[in-house]
Formats: sequence, structure tokens, C-alpha cells
Amino acid sequence: ALFVLGSFVVACSATVDRLPRAGESLRAQAFLVEPGGKGLNLAVGARRLGAAVDGLLAVGDDPLAALAAPALDRAGLPAAMLHRFAGPTGAGIGFTDAAGENCLAVHPGANARLGTAEVRAAAERIAGSALVLAQFEVGDEAVAEAFRIARAAGVRTLLNPSPFRMPSPGILADTAILVVNAVEAAAFGVALGVPLPDGGNETSPKAWAGLAGALLASGPDLVVVTLGSGGALAFRDGRPALVQPAFRVTAIDTLGAGDAFTAGLAVALAEGRPLPESLSLAAACGACVVRRKGVFDALPDRAAIADLVGG
Ligand code: ADP
Repeated sequence: ALFVLGSFVVACSATVDRLPRAGESLRAQAFLVEPGGKGLNLAVGARRLGAAVDGLLAVGDDPLAALAAPALDRAGLPAAMLHRFAGPTGAGIGFTDAAGENCLAVHPGANARLGTAEVRAAAERIAGSALVLAQFEVGDEAVAEAFRIARAAGVRTLLNPSPFRMPSPGILADTAILVVNAVEAAAFGVALGVPLPDGGNETSPKAWAGLAGALLASGPDLVVVTLGSGGALAFRDGRPALVQPAFRVTAIDTLGAGDAFTAGLAVALAEGRPLPESLSLAAACGACVVRRKGVFDALPDRAAIADLVGG
């Protein structure tokens, strides 16, 4: 199984003509509440593609927590993934304007409570998994512990450091696959003092080669930079960069594209698919999510992928 370390977040989003200004109340055209969070999105995304999925997801003891179990059930994910803590469930609030531009804030709530104790209790499941996936809606200690257990057992790890904070050297050293979007890549560049692309040439492999080299030297053996409608780039030590174009779709809501991409990449790599084929599935997953409102229901199954690729 793929093992997903957190997070569960109740995602609320308002559709507005334009993003509200400080002190302003706007009338929203639509309001969507859905079970989300990067961890749940990765787990659902992988499960819909047919992968067996296990992991840890945390909820609080408030009314929002009640959304988690039915969501797991609907997605075909094991109920044993859920951990309940006292306090609030993770929650996010976002706005999407008519141009598809969005802004959001996420409160981690119970996800921040997942710690080394819960991870250690799952050590056998982690050591027996095909790939461990983590993002930064959970705490550093939980990620570090899960990756340590995985690496010691020879299990590959995938990190998506989002929302961005600089990973500790230990986490980076235990990361096999690093997936970053352009914002996260730029934050890495600043933190590592590596020159970044000038505006306009971000989609060329040359533009990110310096940063990719620095990241490859810090632990990962595969670095993937996602560039929205500009596609994605993949870097490996001593091999030419791979360029994965984006599928051409009409973007309705770009939220969750990165999670869908990462889920597709993880499933394909865990199946032992070659990297070009894995990147192509990942890009198809991202595109499927972008062309629909919301994330949970938009995460594609194999039929949706075939429909996109074939049609
Ligand atoms: P994030 O959601 O983390 O910001 P990106 O915006 O880079 O990540 O999107 C991740 C991947 O999803 C991209 O590499 C691309 O393959 C796909 N994708 C994102 N936006 C679009 C789009 N407008 N059209 C087609 N594919 C897209």
C-alpha cells in the first residue's frame, strides 16, 4: 500500500467576482464545503487510480470531525487511518475569483497533533508500504520519524513541502522524491541562495537546473518542479532533465492540481512505471482536477484519465 502521513482539512471555498479587500463584505456566487487537506487529497487521488492506500489522518472532537469518516468510506479508504484528538479539526477557508485566482488560509488543527507516538505505532505499516507520502500540513517530527522508519526499511519516500517551510536536513536526507511547485521551488532557491529563473523562462529546464542540482545534493534522487499550465520538469543526478507538458484543458479551479499530480506520480512510480510514463499520468491527474470545481469529486479514476488522454 501507499502510506499517506496526514492531513485532513475541511475545505470551505467561496466563489466571488473578485477577491475581497480588507474590511469588505462581498456576496459570494457559490459556497463549497468539502473534505480535503493535502493528505486526504493524496490518499483519495491514489485510491481512485486503483492503489491500495493506508496512512494516518487526524481529526479533532468538533462538529467538523464528523465529515471525515463518511469521506473515507466514500473513497474506499480504511477507517483505521483516522486518529481523533481533543480540539479543532483542521479547516481552511478560501476565495476563488472569476479569473480562477485564489487565496486561502488553513488552520492545521488536529493535524499538528500527529506526532512521533502515532507514527511509531504505525511503524510496521510504514515499513511494509510501497511508498510513504508526506506534506507539510503535519509537523516536522512526524514527517522525520515516518521517513526515518521508511528509509531504514528500504521504502521510498515522497515529500511535497507545502505549505512551504524549509525541511530539516534530516528530512531532506531521507527524502527520495521531492515534488515542489514554482512557489515552493522559489522559496527553496532563496533558502539555499541559488539563483532562480527570471520572469518568462520558468518552464525551461535550464532555468531550474541550479536549484535542482542543489536539491539533489541534499538527499532526493528525483526532484520534480510543477509549473501549472507550464507542465512539469523532472531532474535526476547525471541524467538529462525530463520535460512533461501540461494537458490542454480549460481551467475552472486550479486548487488541488498539485495534490492530484503528486498522487498520480506516486501511484505510477510505486507500480514500477518508468519516469516519463509516471509524469504523464501525474500531469493527466492534475489536468482532470483543474477542469472541475472542487477537489474531492474531481480527483480522477482511470476512466477519467482515459477520457482526457483519448479525447
Ligand atoms: P500546485 O497546485 O501545487 O500549485 P501546479 O499549479 O504546478 O501545482 O499544478 C500541478 C500540475 O497540475 C502541473 O504540473 C500540471 O501538470 C497540472 N496543471 C496545473 N494547472 C493546469 C492547467 N491550467 N492546465 C493543465 N494542467 C494543469
